[in-house]
Amino acid sequence: MTEAREAVRSYLKGREALGEPEMFLPPGSRGEALEQVRTAGSRDTGTAVRGLDAGRLARSGTREEILGIADMDGLREVAEACTRCGLHATRTKVVFSDGAADARVLCVGEAPGANEDRTGLPFVGRAGKLLDRLLLSVGFPRADVFICNVLKCRPPGNRNPLPDEIEACSPFMLRQLELVRPTVIVAFGTFAAQTLLGCRDSLRHLRGRTHLYEGFPLVVTYHPAALLRNPGWTRPTWHDLQLARRIVDGEQGQPTPRVVTEDEAPRGSGPGGGPAGAKDQLILGGRDG
Ligand code: SF4
Repeated sequence: MTEAREAVRSYLKGREALGEPEMFLPPGSRGEALEQVRTAGSRDTGTAVRGLDAGRLARSGTREEILGIADMDGLREVAEACTRCGLHATRTKVVFSDGAADARVLCVGEAPGANEDRTGLPFVGRAGKLLDRLLLSVGFPRADVFICNVLKCRPPGNRNPLPDEIEACSPFMLRQLELVRPTVIVAFGTFAAQTLLGCRDSLRHLRGRTHLYEGFPLVVTYHPAALLRNPGWTRPTWHDLQLARRIVDGEQGQPTPRVVTEDEAPRGSGPGGGPAGAKDQLILGGRDG
């Protein structure tokens, strides 16, 4: 959205809030102004929404309303009070995000685990520390990266998220993405990758190349919790993060065809150098605790 459109829409919403549902414009400018407002769409109601309707949005906000929240603080406010799916009943804390809201790298995991549910922060505990080291190894200090999950509340017992929970919660992640506008997204684990890409392909098939999600380059790799169980997958993960590094550096950004890397070459081993016969199911639910 251009600044001009934003200004027009904000002005019109302000007039409407003051009880002026209609307004008269000088000849010649009416059509242009109306077009600006029309094409601005419903996603920019956030300024009016925030503070006034946060409680209602948290209870029953629609997808479009969540996508219309104007800024990260407002989005967090709604998420942290959210009861829009059944997971609110069993969570300890909503796990909204960690890191820089202007980050060039946005990391997405599946859903909070026990440590995250307890602390309210994504990717903590042993898996989080491993993630920190991996990111740092390619020049991304954690503080410079935006980290979140597809789901903001922990599924009981770390079970896989249900379709209605994903449907209810995914607008938060999508709006986070729109607000951060990263140079690259890194999806950790099968579930996050399949959710973002809308497919059921295996992680082995998805990793090692650049995808697009909502117009943003996306790289898929193993979840750090899976690396704790399968250290042999650390090397291909590092290769994936190097790919993300190259995208940030402007060396690579277009979707690329799948290439079988040396880590996947047959040598009596499973995906990414893992144990023979390893299944992607091992990576599903890759949460810490
Ligand atoms: S998982 Fe998402 S939609 Fe469900 S209660 Fe938590 S924040 Fe709301």
